[in-house]
Amino acid sequence: ELEIAIKVIIVGNGGVGKSSMIQRYCKGVFTKEYKKTIGVDFLERIIDVDCEDVRMMCFDTAGQEEFDAITKIYYRGAQACVLAFSTTDRQSFEAIRDWKKKVENECGPDIPTVLVQNKIDMMDQSLVDYEEAELLAQNLGVRLFRTSVKEDLNVSAVFKYLATRCHEI
Ligand code: GDP
Ligand code: MG
Repeated sequence: ELEIAIKVIIVGNGGVGKSSMIQRYCKGVFTKEYKKTIGVDFLERIIDVDCEDVRMMCFDTAGQEEFDAITKIYYRGAQACVLAFSTTDRQSFEAIRDWKKKVENECGPDIPTVLVQNKIDMMDQSLVDYEEAELLAQNLGVRLFRTSVKEDLNVSAVFKYLATRCHEI
């Protein structure tokens, strides 16, 4: 029997919650402090998509977002992409276009991609409002998900959507 496996990359500035999101999705846990993900490649979770098992292999960018040479390895062969920013970090929002370009350079323009506005449990300290996030998503031609990895809001939906999009191709 054929097994479907999807390599998913989660990109965005340091501190937006990428490693936390992978831990949450694949292990069901949230911790404020765990060791930096240097050298770690991926965690996985098997989900059901249209009655088929799909292995979601979630690759972390090793906490060295600024070093192109290292992170390039992580992009190779990616089939789906999460562009993540934190709602409490304006710079992380403004960096999204650059992250998208980087992914396009490595993976081509067509892999299923979503924009994620994380840390919505901290909306009282938000520096990015809903409308501008939605506008960016529209301009990039991707869907916006608002998540809280901490409160486990909408995290599974992000990966389910990507798996479904990959499955359609
Ligand atoms: P990365 O650098 O993008 O991998 O970010 P991390 O996963 O290391 O997370 C950076 C910090 O943000 C950590 O202290 C996390 O516990 C925290 N964090 C991640 N997601 C959330 C969230 O949804 N809400 C809140 N309040 N904190 C979060
Ligand atoms: Mg990290």
